[in-house]
Amino acid sequence: MGDELVRGTMTVAYRRGSAFSYTCHACSRCCHDKVIQLNPYEVARLAQNLGISTTEFLTHYTERSGTALRRVEAGACVFLTPQGCGVHPDRPLVCRLYPLGRHVTSERGEEFRELLPHPETEGEYGVAGTVQTFLDRQEADPFIEATDQYVELLGRLVAALHGRGKADAAVMQEVQHVVDESTAKGTPEWLDMDRTVAKYCGDRRLPVPTDLRERMRVHIQAIDAGLVEQSGTHKEEAHERG
Ligand code: SF4
Repeated sequence: MGDELVRGTMTVAYRRGSAFSYTCHACSRCCHDKVIQLNPYEVARLAQNLGISTTEFLTHYTERSGTALRRVEAGACVFLTPQGCGVHPDRPLVCRLYPLGRHVTSERGEEFRELLPHPETEGEYGVAGTVQTFLDRQEADPFIEATDQYVELLGRLVAALHGRGKADAAVMQEVQHVVDESTAKGTPEWLDMDRTVAKYCGDRRLPVPTDLRERMRVHIQAIDAGLVEQSGTHKEEAHERG
């Protein structure tokens, strides 16, 4: 059986130590017709690259309620230029991992599987390195760490949503939109790091961190604080009703 026949069938699970290499020849075919998912850290990296706020970025460069990069003519990513990726130093994790996808489950831990390549891709697959050396070259680890933190946060939000019913707080309805990949108009406010952090720090008279990783930490802290506050409100309401 030829290599081409098994590429992208998702049957082989790689670990970080697995033999793998990929040489991109910048054909840009993988930058078309893809849902390039974004978390707030990735939005903030891209906004910083463009010198704009995350609020502006979410308005102008995203779709799917702020959770994916906007696509333009012929399904091309909004940042694809004739010279290649226009935001290469700050491109999102899925672009760094391509042609691999990363999956984390409680049963199997972290795994990487090959995605279905474009039939005319010019990328070259090989076994000259390992998945880890590939990740290192892509400078993927800070993005993986951020993704894991936001996935954990989303888990806490979803748990709160399911535990209390979606009608009791606007933020929970917004989480539901994201979970369902809703096409509802507008972007959930909590995805907007700059706005959320500015409000949180302003209310507490704290300086807004300039370092992005610190801003992400405060962003997650702000959302968790909102959950605690809403939980308290919910308990008070239940107490008054009961
Ligand atoms: S961000 Fe860059 S690498 Fe990723 S899809 Fe867009 S143009 Fe391609």
